[in-house]
Amino acid sequence: MGLKKQILTSLTKFLPFDTLSSYDPEKLIVPLYHCISDNEVRHVKHLYRFKNIDKFSADLDFLLRHYQPIDLSELRRGANCYTSKPLMLLTFDDGLSQCFDVIAPILLKKAVPAVFFINSAFVDNNDLFYRFKVSLIIDTIKSNENKFTMLNTRVKIENYIHFLKSLKYKDTPLIDDVASKLNLSFDDYLKRNSPYMSTNQIKSLIKSGFDVGAHSVDHPHFRELTIDEQVKQTKDSVTFMCENFGANNRAFAFPFTDDGVTQNFYNRVLEKECDLVFGTSGSRKDRYNNVYQRIPFEQNDLSVKEILKKYLASRIFRKMTGSYYISRKLY
Ligand SMILES: [Zn+2]
Repeated sequence: MGLKKQILTSLTKFLPFDTLSSYDPEKLIVPLYHCISDNEVRHVKHLYRFKNIDKFSADLDFLLRHYQPIDLSELRRGANCYTSKPLMLLTFDDGLSQCFDVIAPILLKKAVPAVFFINSAFVDNNDLFYRFKVSLIIDTIKSNENKFTMLNTRVKIENYIHFLKSLKYKDTPLIDDVASKLNLSFDDYLKRNSPYMSTNQIKSLIKSGFDVGAHSVDHPHFRELTIDEQVKQTKDSVTFMCENFGANNRAFAFPFTDDGVTQNFYNRVLEKECDLVFGTSGSRKDRYNNVYQRIPFEQNDLSVKEILKKYLASRIFRKMTGSYYISRKLY
């Protein structure tokens, strides 16, 4: 184990949560979730683990004891003057129907604000995220061996699943092709299961006081796009959210990660296309104002306290050792 890792592990292990939290250089956390459900979700099942309602409620109780929840406008105004507690902005990505059916009712009961980041192409179940397509294909071949033989491949099923999981945004035609060989219709799935929220459901969230933001058009990996494609995905999705939902804060959250995004991207979008940007680099920070890094809260079975201790220790360590700021290439 390297020295850095040893120090981090000791910080995390021996310091209590409150001590770590009191040294947090930001006094702000921005957690990220996607899905909360007590049921199986076939389009997510083979991609990541999500929490059930009990675990999510326990997360919230812990968070509310230690943090002051704020909304997007308060974050933008810099709402740190009227509370002794550090601040928290809850965020949920991908606009899944569980946001409306499960998450919002729990948040409303506890009076916690949140932001829902939405892909413009998927609203009203008009299309399906390519990774969700992969999860559905895996579910189909795993649950029925005869289906797998329809693909006429010589590789073992485990290796084929590994291959499916490695497919990228630009492989979408190939993913669609595999599905058609399996007689798996994504349109049928969208129609029958409504995995995403409808326009009316999103409007109803806004009416209840929640914020919404953009999460790109159709969830590509930004690292794999040209700068012009990155800017277009950002601009088009932000414009869609403003025009359709009157989102008063032009907020954008990167699909997947902000990894590999350049200074040039920020120079082209900040203030011009959007006012607030959210990444997923947890314990690090960008040099730009109004760019926030979030902490993924869906990490296997780790409790929210364990996740936060890990991130806070990392933030404090990075701050002490000068590795806190993300360095971005110019182009
Ligand atoms: Zn996403």
